[in-house]
Parts: sequence; structure tokens; C-alpha cells
Amino acid sequence: MSKPALLKAAILVVSTTASKDPSADSSGGVLSQVFEEEGVGKWEVSEVKIVGDEVLDIQRAITAWTDRENSLNVIITTGGTGFAVHDTTPEAVTPLLHKQAPGLVHGMLTASLAVTPFALMSRPVAGVRNKTLIITLPGSPKGAKENLQSILKLLPHACQQAAGADSRTLHAGGVKKLEKEAGVSPGHQPHSHAPDHSHGHSHGHGHSHGHAMPVRHTAPNDNPRSNDPALGPTRRNRSSPYPMLAVTSAKVDGTLVGSVLSADVTATEAVPAYRASIVDGYAVIASEDGSSSQGTFPVASISHATPGDIPELKTGQIARITTGAPLPPGATSVVMVEDTVLKTMTDDGKEEKEVEILAEGVKDGENVREVGSDIKIGEVILRKGEEISAIGGELGLLASVGKAEVTVYKKPIIGVLSTGDEIVEHSRLGDLRLGEVRDCNRPTILSAVRGWGFEAIDLGIAKDKPGALEEHLRDALRKVDVIITSGGVSMGELDLLKPTIERSLGGTIHFGRVSMKPGKPTTFATVPVKNNAGERVSKVIFSLPGNPVSAVVTLHLFVLPSLHHLSGVSPPGLPKVLATLDHEFRLDPQRAEYHRAIVVMGKDGLLHASSTGGQRSSRVGSLKSANALLCLPTGNEPLKKGDKIEALLMGKVRVDVV
Ligand code: AMP
Ligand code: MG
Repeated sequence: MSKPALLKAAILVVSTTASKDPSADSSGGVLSQVFEEEGVGKWEVSEVKIVGDEVLDIQRAITAWTDRENSLNVIITTGGTGFAVHDTTPEAVTPLLHKQAPGLVHGMLTASLAVTPFALMSRPVAGVRNKTLIITLPGSPKGAKENLQSILKLLPHACQQAAGADSRTLHAGGVKKLEKEAGVSPGHQPHSHAPDHSHGHSHGHGHSHGHAMPVRHTAPNDNPRSNDPALGPTRRNRSSPYPMLAVTSAKVDGTLVGSVLSADVTATEAVPAYRASIVDGYAVIASEDGSSSQGTFPVASISHATPGDIPELKTGQIARITTGAPLPPGATSVVMVEDTVLKTMTDDGKEEKEVEILAEGVKDGENVREVGSDIKIGEVILRKGEEISAIGGELGLLASVGKAEVTVYKKPIIGVLSTGDEIVEHSRLGDLRLGEVRDCNRPTILSAVRGWGFEAIDLGIAKDKPGALEEHLRDALRKVDVIITSGGVSMGELDLLKPTIERSLGGTIHFGRVSMKPGKPTTFATVPVKNNAGERVSKVIFSLPGNPVSAVVTLHLFVLPSLHHLSGVSPPGLPKVLATLDHEFRLDPQRAEYHRAIVVMGKDGLLHASSTGGQRSSRVGSLKSANALLCLPTGNEPLKKGDKIEALLMGKVRVDVV
């Protein structure tokens, strides 16, 4: 038997001190040692990284490990789980978790509490993101070590399940077998502390919060971080399950274009359904012994490609047949008209009476499309995950076997809302009053979303009043699956989106600032609601910046991939290509920039990119004719003409004819 592959662990040290001076960290090394010495040869620590106590830095480090192919099996963080102002690890990790693992938290706590009541002084979380288990341990080497020891033996099992192992196979043999394999005994912690184990709880140095853990019976929630305009409601409990892909049955017609199949489609009819001629000619009975098929034969019947009964062909007869027509019963093969000669006609001269077959040695089945030779009954004609394109191939296949309905991922319905006291209908007659701004975002976003093949509902304009915004959003949550708002997400006092989502709707802000240009305040949230069946589901809100260019850029970068994800389209988001710069591009030293550009296929066969001009985020003109967003990195030196850079394609690429 070959040796099983090692499980991969990563250790993320969260400590502002250690991020400046790596020698200040000792927990990272201690944890690696636990994996090595106590992991019974099952583990390999493949990554160790140190970040400061910054939510975004922590999240970036984790998602880089979890949101890729060949993801790691477990990520252990150490540090930032205490009650100090700068402790943010649980807040950073919680929104990333697709599944919570309160059992692991509980297990660690029970072990720690057996050692010290200071176990209550830490706030751990555990759970799964994609295929990776994430566990937050305290910062002190001692505490971190003891916590890891308390769950180490159980981790392989959890990791195998998280990575997609079949749980039936995994659980075959029952709990006893599992316990034996893991080396644990029932009712005991896998790692037991000696009763007299003396435990010094260290409060001394900068980043340590002991290994203490609070007992908590529910999964910790992300607390609101936005300003509370009313200073009224206190924090609410909320959970943030990611929306599930819904499945629906859909009619096979043009409306299916852009939908993705949620199940394999099997043919229940054969194509062709009958033995059909491939040519115009004469249906014949080939002799079994392969002897001569030549001779002159009476034409007994005519088979056109029309439904109906055809008389049986008898030995010594032939039948005229057209392309696609069914063979008469008894016929074995078809001889092409080119291989025949008309011998005699009926008296009126209108019909053929006798025809001479010139073809020699006609074989059984010659020039015949057999039943099911294109598609067999029971054959899978389209697979789960395949998209129905407008080109027609997929619809054609479904139509050919008589599929009237298929099951597809339900496309989300999208609502589009503008916000701002200054915003007026774009088509309002008359001059603008001082301070009024025409609504440019709503018509743009509605048309883009519809152009992507989704149903979009116009939600109008909401005033910058807490009540008005909440009312609009509540109404929208009843009607749509995804809400796209624009405006109201910067830090001004009238920017109400974040607090309304968190405080009034009980939603969770997953991110509220992105280091990019344009689009810094882009906000993504989910809100729990009850659907018509009374089930808790979560709806998605994208709050895009108000500046029209920022709104459209972030629509493409954030909303489109999410809509793709929700409707099963893969890969999600805009396609990425490499383009050659046609001129110099200056870079922003701080923020990655998505530069509106025109990409064309040049006569040299390469993609060429040129800027659409001034890129200020209020200048809608920078989007006119743009078919691409160039992904410009941060930097101090400009990119040179001829440099190659990644471009996200938003629209068709013009081809300069060679
Ligand atoms: P805000 O994020 O609400 O502060 O908006 C930023 C800027 O975008 C302000 O100049 C707004 O007037 C402008 N803006 C917001 N919404 C729209 C819209 N729907 N159409 C055009 N401009 C807008
Ligand atoms: Mg505004």
C-alpha cells in the first residue's frame, strides 16, 4: 500500500509586534513542533506567516490559502483572540467561515478550563471555508500549544470530511473504529492534562492573552462596526449563512439561454428514432451471402420523409427512398440513385416501373442511419454544470430528444436602487436645481445586469433618511434575491447603508472597504430573511459607491462573479486576457487600479490596450467604448508601452482585419 499523502497545515501568527520583528514570535515555532512531534506522522506544516492585528491582513492571508486549488487542510491562527482593543482575529475569521464548528471550540474550552479559569479570557472560533478547517488559538505559546494538543488527534478526520471525503466510507465501522483510529477514548479529551499540572498564566508580554477560552454555546457573530445614526438599538444576534444555489425546472425554449443545468440530462428517445436513409436512392434487400446485388428490379413503393405506414419490401423488389426517409420493413440497405439506371416507366410515363441496380456487393446497413446511431436512449447528452448557450448547440440537442423541461440553477432576481437626496430621475424634464444630480447609475446598472441575462427590477431612488432607506430595502428583500444599491457608502454622516443593513435589517457586512481604485467603499453584506416557505435564507446586498464610474467598475468586479456563482456559471466573472500596452500608463502608488481601456485584436494577432482617457471616478465618459478593465498594480514607475498586462474583458473585442 502506498503511504497516504500528508495533511497540510498552515500557521498564521497574528501579532503586530511579531509582524515588525519576527524574532518576537515563539508561538509559530511551538505549534509547528506540536504538529511534527505529536501528529503521528500525518502532518506537514507547509506555510507559516506573520501578520499584524488587521482584519483585512488576516483575511487576505487566510483566503490566499483557502480560495485556491490544492487548498490546505487546516489553518491554525495564533493571537488576537483576547479582549484588547486591537484583538480582531475572531472578527476577521468569522465572516470567512462557510460552516461553523462550535464543537471544536467547545472541546478546546473544556480542555483549557480543566487547567485554568482564565480559559474564559479568549474568544475562539472554528469552522470550514471551502475545504479548509480554520481554528483560532490564543497568542501565548503555552495556551496555543495546549489548545492544539487538545484537538490534534481529531483534526485528520475533520479535515478529510472538509476536503470532501465520502462520509459514509469515513464512518463505516462506527464511532468505536473512529476513536481507535484517532487514538482517543470515549468521554475523555484526546489530550489529558495531569491533575497537578501547574499552570502559569502569563499576562506579561505584549501579545499574550493566555490560552484562555470563553465558554460559548453559539457561534460568535460579527458585531456592527459602523456608526449608529440613531444611537438606539443595541447589537443584535445574526448569522450569515451564504446563499444556497436554488434549483428550478425550466421550459426548453429561448428563455433557457444563459441557464446552467443542475443535473445531467439523459435521452429518453433515440435519434434517429427509425432506420433512415442517408441518401436519395433505392431501398434494397442485400443478399446475406454477399452475392451480386446487381440486376433489374420492380419499384414496389416510394418512401418519402413523411410519417405513415410503408408496405413491406419483398425479395426481388426495391423501393424508391429519399434522404431521411424511413426504410421499408424488410429492406436492409440503400443504393444511391447515382448507382442505378431507369429501365422502364409506367404507361403514362410518370412513374418508374423498373430500375437497374449497378452497385456490386451491397452490404447490410449500407447508407442507413441506424436507430440511436446519433443519440442512444439512456445516453447523457448534457452534463450538470453545462451552460445553455445562445449559439444553439445545447438547445438543439435537448430539442432533438424531445426534452420539454430540464432542471437548472435558478437565476437570482436582482433589484437596483439609487440612494441620495440629490439624485433625480435621469429623464426629469426641466433644468436641474442647484445640488440636483441626474440618476446615472440606475439605468446603467439595470441595463448591464439585463444584458448579462438576469431579470432586474427597478427599485427607484431612496432618500438619505434612515426610515426611507430601510423601507426600500425591506420591500426589496421581499421581491428580489440580490439588491444592488449605489451611493451612501462613504464615511459622510448621511451615508446610511452600512448602519441600516447592520442595525435595522440585522445583516452582516462581509466587507466595507476595498483597497482599489476606483471603488474603495464597495460594501458586501448578507441579510437573513424568511422566504415564503418560512425557511431562513440569506439575501445579498451589494452597496456600490455613488460615483458612476466606481459603481460600474465594481458592478463588473464584484457583482457579476456573485451572480454567476448564484446561477451556477463557471468560471465566474469577467474573462482575463493578457494585453500589450499601446502607450505608457502611470500607476497609483497605494491602490491597485482598474483602468478603463479599449482592447483590440491587432493585425499582429496580439491584443492591444489603450486608455479611454481621464480616469476620474465621476467621469462617466471614461467608460464610453471601454471593453476592458486593465489590472494595474501599485507602483511608482509608469508601465511602458509594449508591457503586457492583465485585462478583464467586459465586452466584445474588435478584430482589426489582417
Ligand atoms: P455618495 O457615495 O452617496 O457620497 O456618492 C458619491 C458621489 O456620487 C456623489 O457626488 C453623488 O452625488 C454621486 N452619485 C451618487 N449616486 C448617484 C447616481 N445614482 N447617479 C449619479 N451620481 C450619483
Ligand atoms: Mg449619497
